[in-house]
Amino acid sequence: MERSHRTRDIRSLTERELADLVKELGQPAFRAKQIGEWLYSKNVSSFDEMTNIPKALRDKLAERFSFRVPTEIAKQVSRDGSRKYLLEFNDGTSVETVGMPSRNKLSVCVSTQAGCAMGCAFCATGFNGLSRSLTAQEIVDQVIHVAKDFDERVTSVVFMGQGEPFANFDEVVEALRILNDPDGMAIGARHLTVSTCGVIPGIKRFAELPEQFTLAISLHSAIQQTRNKLMPGAKKYTLPRLHEAIQAYVEKTGRRPTYEFAMIEGINDTNPEMEALIDFCAGTLCHVNLIPLNDTPGSLMKPSPMKKIETLQKRLQMHGVEATIRNSRGNDIDAACGQLKQRHVTVS
Ligand code: SAH
Ligand code: SF4
Repeated sequence: MERSHRTRDIRSLTERELADLVKELGQPAFRAKQIGEWLYSKNVSSFDEMTNIPKALRDKLAERFSFRVPTEIAKQVSRDGSRKYLLEFNDGTSVETVGMPSRNKLSVCVSTQAGCAMGCAFCATGFNGLSRSLTAQEIVDQVIHVAKDFDERVTSVVFMGQGEPFANFDEVVEALRILNDPDGMAIGARHLTVSTCGVIPGIKRFAELPEQFTLAISLHSAIQQTRNKLMPGAKKYTLPRLHEAIQAYVEKTGRRPTYEFAMIEGINDTNPEMEALIDFCAGTLCHVNLIPLNDTPGSLMKPSPMKKIETLQKRLQMHGVEATIRNSRGNDIDAACGQLKQRHVTVS
């Protein structure tokens, strides 16, 4: 595609390559450090912003390199202050990203793929299938975009936008490390959360990472038949194997995983469903997030009544399982969980 004819993104240079480049251009070695700071700590998106670099050198860099930052195609602002962005990458692929501010904090929800192949019945992202996976830089660029738009430091990132992170494992881990880098955005590992629909090989590899990243698992039902219907793409990762993989993760890391449970009227809020969930969780280290289903256009599924959600919360707590009820942010702009759609934007 067009991409290969363009110049390379300067931000893809390693420290070593940057040092070599500066040498090749006949510049003193400290320039590499200065440029590195602009690129990775200050997250500039143009050569002109590198104010302590001589103009002649900036021009030389611009001849050979570019910044492949995404373009903002659309932005919507919610009543609660959340902002949803439609960001387009170099090849015309676009994804949605959400920024959620709260007192002194700014949380970003990033997409890891354009679309998703898992086809969950309640999720707008899954409806059109997968376009492609994103690169680590494209994931990080979403965070940088939101930080700049709010002009604030990002304090946490959830990998809960479009896509299944563990279907794009390597790029996701690289993005986590860039976000966590103390010389870069320095977002604490515990404030970086990856949500998976239950891809077991991914959970196993995640358990091996030395960093304390946070894991969330979209459970939505602890009864196999129901889960198969709701999450057909996760069918092969059966509940007993999933349970085992999560317990191995807990043993290995000592960290507490979160289960996401979107409550759907008449489907996963019945008595047997509640009992199965309690069985799945009781006696294990975990936290359950109960989320009233967000309505997506064209879906027959409805959120459970609040009374039912509260009942499940109480029942879980009675069995020693921590549970919270979470209301999604940005509902009025379709920025809540599961409402991020894949859009096809044609560029001329
Ligand atoms: N693919 C990953 C991460 C992205 S989805 C995953 O499935 O975990 C982020 C979260 O939103 C998941 O827990 C997902 O199950 C949930 N979700 C999807 N559609 C939803 C909806 N309509 N209402 C509430 N939560 C939803
Ligand atoms: Fe994909 Fe997650 Fe949506 Fe399922 S819930 S279709 S895994 S993004």
